[in-house]
Amino acid sequence: MSIKNQVVLHPERCVAIIRGDWHNSQCQRPNGHGPEGKYCKQHAPADPEQATPWFAVTSGTRITQKLMVEVSESYLAEPGRKTKVKKSGYENWFRTREEAVEFVLRRLTISVDGYRRRLAEAEEELQKFIEQEKQ
Ligand SMILES: [Zn+2]
Repeated sequence: MSIKNQVVLHPERCVAIIRGDWHNSQCQRPNGHGPEGKYCKQHAPADPEQATPWFAVTSGTRITQKLMVEVSESYLAEPGRKTKVKKSGYENWFRTREEAVEFVLRRLTISVDGYRRRLAEAEEELQKFIEQEKQ
């Protein structure tokens, strides 16, 4: 998520994030319900699973911790699956930080391999050019 979409949470209000067309905002209602009393009556998740943090991989390699309630249902997908997120592109969601880190490492390895291949090709081209110059 870009800085523009981040919300600084007010400590006495419900932690649910209301998505708007232009910006997101924190729920206006007082907290005191749900897990750790962090939610208003309306947003308190019946399923405690929803109140535990997930890890989203954004911009290919950035890992952020998020609550399920921060993302509207239409954006959610199976763990690890690519999920379209309004404005900021795509995120991959994971249940644990370890899974997210592993995903990022795998992705970085793939791109490093790609650069190595391109470098090898460039060196080969350069070598051919040098050979030609000698003739
Ligand atoms: Zn609320």
